[in-house]
Amino acid sequence: MKKLYLLASLSLLASPLIAQRTLIHCGNLFDGIGNTLQPQMTVVVEGNKITAVQKGFTTPAGQDRVVDLKAKTVLPGLIDMHVHLESQTRRGGAIDGFTRNPADVAYQAAQYAKTTLLAGFTTVRDLGGSGVNVSLRNAINNGLVDGPRVLTVGKSIATTGGHADPTNGYRKDLMGDPGPMEGVINGPEDARKAVRQRYKDGSDLIKITATGGVLSNAKDGSGAQFTEEEVKAVVDAAKDYGFAVAAHAHGAEGMKRAIRAGVQTIEHGTLMDDEAIELFKKYGTYYVPTIIAGKTAADSARRFGYYPALVTPKALAIGPKIQATFAKAYKAGVKIAFGTDAGVYIHGYNAKEFEYMVEAGMPPVEAIKAALMTNAKLLGMDTQIGSIETGKFADIIAVDENPIQNIKTLQAVKFVMKDGKVYK
Ligand SMILES: [Zn+2]
Repeated sequence: MKKLYLLASLSLLASPLIAQRTLIHCGNLFDGIGNTLQPQMTVVVEGNKITAVQKGFTTPAGQDRVVDLKAKTVLPGLIDMHVHLESQTRRGGAIDGFTRNPADVAYQAAQYAKTTLLAGFTTVRDLGGSGVNVSLRNAINNGLVDGPRVLTVGKSIATTGGHADPTNGYRKDLMGDPGPMEGVINGPEDARKAVRQRYKDGSDLIKITATGGVLSNAKDGSGAQFTEEEVKAVVDAAKDYGFAVAAHAHGAEGMKRAIRAGVQTIEHGTLMDDEAIELFKKYGTYYVPTIIAGKTAADSARRFGYYPALVTPKALAIGPKIQATFAKAYKAGVKIAFGTDAGVYIHGYNAKEFEYMVEAGMPPVEAIKAALMTNAKLLGMDTQIGSIETGKFADIIAVDENPIQNIKTLQAVKFVMKDGKVYK
């Protein structure tokens, strides 16, 4: 009896909210499932969910609210598999680690998150920061900060001196000897401990830096930095917590070790050779290209004093190569996910990546779908996001033109709804 009464009163409280529907009148709809636009459609939203997709412009009834997007093309909210919401590139930014408190990082991160959401990206995978990204995700989920849905690795896992060792380039007394707690491992034991620490910290998945990287203050940008045994230990430990593993890799050897050890995605993949391409296909590993980050890093490196001396030559050598690598990988049939490395370039320009993908030979529909259902599946969220279908979260954006004809229109998103709430 008591239970029934409680249920009845709850539904009474909730009923005015449930009764109000939002009818989104779409001039054209790209639902993320088909390959063409459907003209004159209505997406019905109740609460935070899509409850119907109907032909024509549904007439409002009762308390229905209409969002008029009759002059727009409506799409599912976009998904970026590689962002860094805690940071953003700037000249001389290498010093930031010494001058900013976690609270300073957090306030900035909140701004970057909002910028990302307003650019039409309603879900992102944050591939590394100090751990403030975990708090940012929680703040967004609790409605304290406007931002995309965030799945985050917390702190990336590196080996000593490797890309994402947080004390690279420091003077000795500051350098110390970071360990699994700080995301630095040497050997399988450390690897397991580092993964379990990320679980304890509240991460959603794991990132390793399988090879050297461009922006760390260290000499090598592409050599292997994990043994295959270490990657395997990370992947095995991650499985226990349902974590996918993303691997940053520029050089071919580290990339191959990571693929063979069972990582889900390779990030950047710059120097992949034919053998690596075959391994991608054999293991079904996804490639997240981040072309925009490579181009931006190379451009920045040409500006005097932008990066530390050790970083500049790496950015010039690695950055410009990614687009050609992507073209080759796509042509060879490697599976492609959409990711940009936002933060290495200015947040909010994520959709520029579509233009670079298309420029390199990928048809616009495929590039857009990479940022929708492909990414949703990799995140294990394909029943919740990635398309405009009944039952999914109401993550919906709109642009002025047909993106299949003009991919650049995605760089000027005019309407953003996330979780049923309008942000733009
Ligand atoms: Zn990155």
